[in-house]
Amino acid sequence: MSKIGDHAVVLGAGMAGMAVARVLSDAYERVTIIERDELADNAENRRGVPQGRHVHLLLARGGYILDELFPGFLDELVQAGARAAHNLTDLYFSIGGHLLSQENRSGDGTYLASRPFLEAHVRRRLRAIKNITILEKCDVAGLIADTPGRVDGVRIHHRDRAEPEALSADVVVDAMGRAGRTPLWLKELGFQPAPEEKLPIDLVYASQLLRLPPDIKVEKVIGIGAVPGRPTGLAMFAYENNTWLASAQGYRGHHPPSTWDGILDFVRDFAPAHIMEALKQAEPLANVTTHHFPANQRRRYERLKQFPEGLLVFGDAICSYNPLYAQGMTVAMLQALALRDCLQRGTDNLARRFFRAAAKPIDVAWQLNIGADLAIPEVPGPRPLPLRMINKYVRRVQAAAGQDPALSEQFLRVTSLMDPPTTLMRPWVLWRAFTSRAGR
Ligand SMILES: Cc1cc2nc3c(=O)[nH]c(=O)nc-3n(C[C@H](O)[C@H](O)[C@H](O)COP(=O)(O)OP(=O)(O)OC[C@H]3O[C@@H](n4cnc5c(N)ncnc54)[C@H](O)[C@@H]3O)c2cc1C
Repeated sequence: MSKIGDHAVVLGAGMAGMAVARVLSDAYERVTIIERDELADNAENRRGVPQGRHVHLLLARGGYILDELFPGFLDELVQAGARAAHNLTDLYFSIGGHLLSQENRSGDGTYLASRPFLEAHVRRRLRAIKNITILEKCDVAGLIADTPGRVDGVRIHHRDRAEPEALSADVVVDAMGRAGRTPLWLKELGFQPAPEEKLPIDLVYASQLLRLPPDIKVEKVIGIGAVPGRPTGLAMFAYENNTWLASAQGYRGHHPPSTWDGILDFVRDFAPAHIMEALKQAEPLANVTTHHFPANQRRRYERLKQFPEGLLVFGDAICSYNPLYAQGMTVAMLQALALRDCLQRGTDNLARRFFRAAAKPIDVAWQLNIGADLAIPEVPGPRPLPLRMINKYVRRVQAAAGQDPALSEQFLRVTSLMDPPTTLMRPWVLWRAFTSRAGR
């Protein structure tokens, strides 16, 4: 692609920031990423990404997009020690109280690596791109907006310098995560705020890094979701360097304790015997860490009639999802593809075109998340008839999927964002869901 601008600045070097920088590097002469943390070459947890200490799983769709943006990425990741789960036998997925089929059947891969490991690998690929510079230990101080109606650049504070620096840019991208500054900046610049949607879920994760004895056999991906009356769950994934990460979770006051013994007690009621045995035999490798996720949160930038030229918003700064469904990073990758398509048609009206294009994948994941959260009675929120009917049907599919590997795979293709949710209404799915004894 020929270059359509001189300088793009990305604020934040999380997964979304790195994906957008990769796409911008094809369209702009120079891309600068501003990140307030120090970024190690290896996989280290850092302050700006506190969720990195909790289970992260890269869905198939997100993995394939990363591989497209950085050719050979997935093989490289797996060779370096990440795990891949391609077969239903690799999974123990209990959703709404229904265990998906564990028959031997291959499908798309889910990629298992700790968040710092994944980030470090993307960062290494990014650092090899000549027109991308990462300025670490730099705080974003504010926007430069000298031209009415547009953003001309950004002011940054280097941690080791007294004076702030002004960077001019053709486009500035806010990828600073859930607490992104765009709402504040719009106010300062005299623009209307984006309408905001929230579903409070008051979810807490308590996570423990583990090593399992070699003779213990459990599935690589364990996910036990909440059921009506028990708004708690467990996720445990196999990671690089023979480590495992277990996160206990609980909604709305049913929060997991912050000690390992406490977590074992917490999951005892619902974890099956083989998983409980693995947990009891596991060696804890660090302290338990907790994370509070108050609400699903979406800012509807696509609905704004006016938005400053030269500014974009990306990743969790637009929409942050219940982490249990593991879709945040993949939706950020889908936004990267949407931006790549928009840039192919130049920079005219870029923000408007991008927000509209990005809203499509954001909406699919949002509907899936909200629907699943509202299936839990403890989560407050309106449940109109169509939602109740869809949730009833989805429960039927989940129940039938336990005996039906094809149905399990189709369900996973939807939740991995490979296929649209409408594929669950295909005649063969309807037939199997309604005729299966378990479904009924
Ligand atoms: C507990 C938990 C578990 C999750 N599990 C999964 C999962 O399994 N799969 C999945 O796909 N997603 C998961 N997610 C979601 C996922 O973490 C995010 O969707 C994803 O990280 C995209 O975020 P981002 O890059 O937009 O923001 P972030 O990852 O939050 O990155 C923002 C970056 O901006 C930097 N920054 C912030 N402010 C400034 C500033 N003023 N100046 C400079 N830099 C700044 C931060 O340091 C950070 O590097 C999970 C989230 C949580 C909370």
